[in-house]
Amino acid sequence: MERKEMKYHKNDKVRCAVKCKHESCPWKVILRFNKDDKCWRLSVVKDKHDGCVRTQNNSMVNSSIVAKRWKQQIRGNLEWKTNSFLEKILTDDHYILSKKQAWRALVKEKVKVSDLKENGKERFLRMYICWEATREGFKHCRKIIGLDGCHLKCKIGGQLLTAVGIDANESLFPIAYAVVEDKQKGLIQACESTLQGVRHIFCVRHLHNNMRVAGFTANAIKDALWKAARATTVNNFSTALLELRKLDENAYVWLGDKDEIKDF
Ligand SMILES: [Zn+2]
Repeated sequence: MERKEMKYHKNDKVRCAVKCKHESCPWKVILRFNKDDKCWRLSVVKDKHDGCVRTQNNSMVNSSIVAKRWKQQIRGNLEWKTNSFLEKILTDDHYILSKKQAWRALVKEKVKVSDLKENGKERFLRMYICWEATREGFKHCRKIIGLDGCHLKCKIGGQLLTAVGIDANESLFPIAYAVVEDKQKGLIQACESTLQGVRHIFCVRHLHNNMRVAGFTANAIKDALWKAARATTVNNFSTALLELRKLDENAYVWLGDKDEIKDF
């Protein structure tokens, strides 16, 4: 608050001594742990600075401190970008923070916590991560985004949602990921509203998995499905789909309900 920089001289289990970083300044606070009372006690307080200067670069002002100080503002402004946040800290608090630390502070406060509290404590709900480096890297990838989700098998559960691209080496290129509380339902609706006019297709392996769950488990159906998926001409695709229809009319109808197949 006073824009002075302090330094820990001692910080262990029994002593904590903080002094002004400016050598000749008398400001200091010393705490000692009282074993009998099991509590910390102030033993020295010299709360007056003298001869030191205010600083804009303060090593004590780290991302945690900044996150705590700006908590409310960050939560009400989730679109805040690192650079404009940095400017705000400089104009309001007169501190120069590194871009990395400002970014960390934003991330720390941008994790969505649950409205329901447990034992008075806030609980993690969801968060989304997209690294700047991967966002830049994706510009050099093919214009394909793969979306998927899986269950997290840790104690609190939840789902991990991922968005990947394909790089020049035909390898998966992670773009963004999120940990959410709910299932990935709504993915198709979300694609339709946010990626208008962009063609979307299903992963055949997942499509077949869903077919199996729906009761179409025969290997012949699987083969026919893959044949249709691998077809490079409309004619070949139609022929393969007809083969599938001959095998199981219901499987054909089930596939027909999927928007992607309808387009053909
Ligand atoms: Zn001082």
